[in-house]
Amino acid sequence: MKAATALIDTDALCHNIEMIRKMIPNARLWAMIKANAYGHGMLPVANALSSYADGFGVARLKEALALRAHGISNPLLLLEGFCTQADLQHLLEHKIETVVHCLSQLEMLEQAQLEKPLNIWIKLDTGMHRLGFRPENVEEAIARLSACSSVASPLNFISHFGCADEKNNPLTIEQINLFSSLTENQKGLKSLAASSGCFLWPNSHFDMVRPGICLYGISPFSNGCGAELGLKAVMTMTSSLIAVREAKKGERIGYGATWTVKENTFLGVVAIGYGDGYPRMAPNGTPVWLNGRKVPIVGRVAMDMLTVDLGALSTDSLGDEVILWGPPLPVEEVARHIGTIGYELVTNLTSRVEYVYL
Ligand SMILES: *Cc1c(COP(=O)(O)O)cnc(C)c1O
Repeated sequence: MKAATALIDTDALCHNIEMIRKMIPNARLWAMIKANAYGHGMLPVANALSSYADGFGVARLKEALALRAHGISNPLLLLEGFCTQADLQHLLEHKIETVVHCLSQLEMLEQAQLEKPLNIWIKLDTGMHRLGFRPENVEEAIARLSACSSVASPLNFISHFGCADEKNNPLTIEQINLFSSLTENQKGLKSLAASSGCFLWPNSHFDMVRPGICLYGISPFSNGCGAELGLKAVMTMTSSLIAVREAKKGERIGYGATWTVKENTFLGVVAIGYGDGYPRMAPNGTPVWLNGRKVPIVGRVAMDMLTVDLGALSTDSLGDEVILWGPPLPVEEVARHIGTIGYELVTNLTSRVEYVYL
């Protein structure tokens, strides 16, 4: 009987990247595979996409080095940049491009004596106010980096949206305009759009787009789901029933006895819990998919198990497959019950989960 298992449909991954490619005819496509490819497995995802993606984006040097160690030769971009002077040697040796978002990174580049210059992307803070040079400091950063022997020319430019998932948010238009004007006379490549920019904001595509979540078939928007956008869900999170039990009216279920049986029913126990990354915060009523229908979680999610109400007429059996999310039950819908986003559910899977690539 299988316990928590993530089935990964690599054909769906290829379908999704081809669909995004059609939406961005004039831009390069760098696929974001940070955080273990949003929980889908970084190396298998990189292998599946290596002939489709112009490059890959990761957040940490460790992730980039793992890709190189396993023979991935596509261009790589370190989205948060490097942390120490010693990191620069790794970037050079393994041909990893890097974001430069702050003065201390700039100073490390000025002090470095590298044999060859690095490709860098200057991060501009156009309004999200998380990372990047503020507009008034951009001119000086460009001048200093242009003069730096460890930096290849031309310089490339990158920024990130704060609210691009909202159709009418004026901040996005302000960010596009500011990014355009700050980079107007620059020769290098320019990149602004992540998934939501690919779908909603054609004038944010510039030279390179950086989709992440949509590649996995998940919508970047707060409403709806990936299938409504033409995407295919890549992950089917499954487990199985390890017990089917009678429960009598009035009995209270699980840790803390937080749910009371209203009418005599059958309960199913599913072999997945927060030890696998299924959130403990999932409230009563969060759906799972079983034998062609949704059934609700009842009681608290435990470390290794959760309990569902199968109903008095249940014909479910021990060993039946349970889908926590996947094509019949969008991860976005599950996430809304729990008060989070699909990104977090897929990314939070733990090392106990088994992965099967189809
Ligand atoms: C994670 C990330 C992306 C991808 O965002 P999605 O919403 O998953 O498409 C793009 N750019 C940067 C800088 C990121 O950190």
